Amino acid sequence: MLATRDDQSRPEWRDWAWQMRHRVRSAEGLAEFVDPVVDEVAAVAALADRFRFVITPYYASLMDPNDPECPIRRQVVPRGAELDDPAGLADPLDEIAHSPVKNVIRVYADRIAFCVNNECALYCRYCLRKRMVGDEDWTMRRRELETALAWIRETPSIRDVLLTGGDPLVFSDDKLAWLLGELRAIPHVEIVRLGTRLPVTLPFRVTPELCEMLAEHHPVWVNTHFNHPRELTAEAAEACDRLTRAGIPVGNQSVLLRGINDDTATMKALCEGLVRMRVRPYYCYQAQLLEGTGHFRVPIEDGMALFRGLRGRTSGFAIPLYVLDTPHGKVPLTHPHVRGREGDDVVVETFEGKLWREPNPL
Ligand SMILES: *Cc1c(COP(=O)(O)O)cnc(C)c1O
Ligand code: SF4
Repeated sequence: MLATRDDQSRPEWRDWAWQMRHRVRSAEGLAEFVDPVVDEVAAVAALADRFRFVITPYYASLMDPNDPECPIRRQVVPRGAELDDPAGLADPLDEIAHSPVKNVIRVYADRIAFCVNNECALYCRYCLRKRMVGDEDWTMRRRELETALAWIRETPSIRDVLLTGGDPLVFSDDKLAWLLGELRAIPHVEIVRLGTRLPVTLPFRVTPELCEMLAEHHPVWVNTHFNHPRELTAEAAEACDRLTRAGIPVGNQSVLLRGINDDTATMKALCEGLVRMRVRPYYCYQAQLLEGTGHFRVPIEDGMALFRGLRGRTSGFAIPLYVLDTPHGKVPLTHPHVRGREGDDVVVETFEGKLWREPNPL
């Protein structure tokens, strides 16, 4: 049975397992939520063997049925433009070279990204995770996780472990509790963070039971991934509220995407909406040079101008740091507010573009 918009009135709609079982995976399934244009239907067929096409019914219900340029729709529905961008790289961050043990990416001395699975609730068109990988069973996955855990145990410099994937919240509570318990038993692991898009794409996953379990493993931090103000629904706000009430600081990492959130008004509405939900905008990523994503990329200068436009015009903590992820770590892409030294003064530029001379003798 294909999920439809009408399912929103059923009690199962709020059951995350029901949502996972009824995900949209075909052009027919898509047609239950939107009126697909020819380009979308053709792209679903043409990309079927290369990039996964999966959307949760909840997220599908946020799509504008009549507007193919809808910012929700463009994040998850394939388009023909994905086929005409052969310039992108398959592994732009050179993750393979930075992997001391399978599933661990180490770019910094004190912290790692630990890819605990390959599964997400849905697949974003701008992400490398949409590349096909086969399903694997838990026994094999658990053996791999144990190998990575052993490496963390033997590496005392690791104080911060970022669980990512895929998406760690696709795991059941039991599996996640096991993994967190193993990490928490390692004395030098001071903090654990989860990078998850499920508060955005499947907010019903954030159950009271999950939050209770996470709170048993504090300090736990969560970074989620909202890209557009239309994603800030009542359901998503409730999910974030449950997390913050469990004592988990929630941050947001978005991606700057052309035609989706690359104008000051949209980004400001997103950031201010997040702050109203007590979610702190943390990073906004420059979109990577990734196969099939050329139509999403924004020139870095335009991104810098966008974030410069927010400074001084909204709460300071509503403004994320615009960053470029590189194989050598994240690099801030910020407007140079410090113009330089002139004798005993340092000249800085205010948000309105005025120059200020700050006496600062050496
Ligand atoms: C982003 C990232 C981190 C965490 O970086 P922070 O700036 O501390 O948020 C750690 N390891 C890798 C490989 C990363 O990509
Ligand atoms: S949820 Fe995150 S990891 Fe998964 S496809 Fe989307 S951006 Fe990629």
